[in-house]
Amino acid sequence: MPDYEEYIEMIKPIWQSHRLTNMGFLHNQLENELKEYLNVPYVVLTTNGHTALEIAIQAMNLEGEVITTPFTFVSTIHAIVRSGLTPVFCDIDPETGTIDTDKVEDLITPRTSAILPVHVYGNVCDVEKIDMIAKKHGLKVIYDAAHTFGERYKERSVVSYGDISILSFHATKIFHTIEGGAVVCRTEDMKNKLYGLRNFGIRSEEIVDEIGTNSKMDEFRAAMGLCNLKKNDTEIQMRKGIVELYKEKLGNISGIDFFREQSDLECNYAYFPVMFDENKLGYNRDFLYDFLKVNGIFARKYFYPLVNDLDAYKDYDLQVDVPVARRISKRVLTLPLYSSLTDEDVDYICSKILSFN
Ligand SMILES: *Cc1c(COP(=O)(O)O)cnc(C)c1O
Repeated sequence: MPDYEEYIEMIKPIWQSHRLTNMGFLHNQLENELKEYLNVPYVVLTTNGHTALEIAIQAMNLEGEVITTPFTFVSTIHAIVRSGLTPVFCDIDPETGTIDTDKVEDLITPRTSAILPVHVYGNVCDVEKIDMIAKKHGLKVIYDAAHTFGERYKERSVVSYGDISILSFHATKIFHTIEGGAVVCRTEDMKNKLYGLRNFGIRSEEIVDEIGTNSKMDEFRAAMGLCNLKKNDTEIQMRKGIVELYKEKLGNISGIDFFREQSDLECNYAYFPVMFDENKLGYNRDFLYDFLKVNGIFARKYFYPLVNDLDAYKDYDLQVDVPVARRISKRVLTLPLYSSLTDEDVDYICSKILSFN
């Protein structure tokens, strides 16, 4: 959280303007600062990352099938299904957890309209190959970039790849506005369309030209974002140090694996996922998760279960052959990671993890 006094200063002008929401002064300022910070031409703020996905899908006029992965937060798949589309699940690459681009083309049918890959944990998808496949088959690309805030890949903002990227500014994300999100797009036309869709399709007082939703960000949350944006670089730096310490302590142990460090990526260290291989360690991920919990350490099974295995999808006929996603989903834990985590905390967490070795 930002400094209390700083936040109070930021929201004071609201008491003069009496403008609480509907694209107020702080909202516009945050949109502008984000364009600069992310180095992109258009940012459309939304009330959360999920509705950002829904309006992005609507704005792209998608139909039929959308190729994605089940190794993600439920929101990705819910957004596809709630938009009347069919998710088609592709397996993931074992080294990054992102969509396996060698398997995408086999899943393309005449009904496919888009690819919706996830930069899971901030690991960047193979954006070049995805771009190539999309061009070849005339498909749209929407990136679920909820985990990639502030990252650059090959000197370019990660959210500048694809037709559209969506971001989440939920309280649990590296940069947050309490609840919030954004759509990043490439053209003025698309920006205008998204502006309409996030505000009921209201174009002017008497003109409503789209069946939009309500996804506006209010002034209080924009103020939170303006405060948090100032310290985002420091947050990333501090997390980097923590991840390095974790890796030093847990690296070189047979059965404990990390995702590959990607070259050309300026990482945001939003998450620290670690895979635990029962065959080599003699205990499994679930055992370790429970053991850590008893010791006051709250790791998360991100992402388990796979979305296609959830009760919500039991009546859907989603043919899925995703052995890599299944394996990783059973082995992975994201370990505690936040800037105020001390070296002693990391020592304690690692000593518990290593107590069976
Ligand atoms: C958090 C998240 C979302 C949804 O964002 P909200 O702001 O919580 O609505 C979507 N996709 C992924 C991968 C996420 O982690």
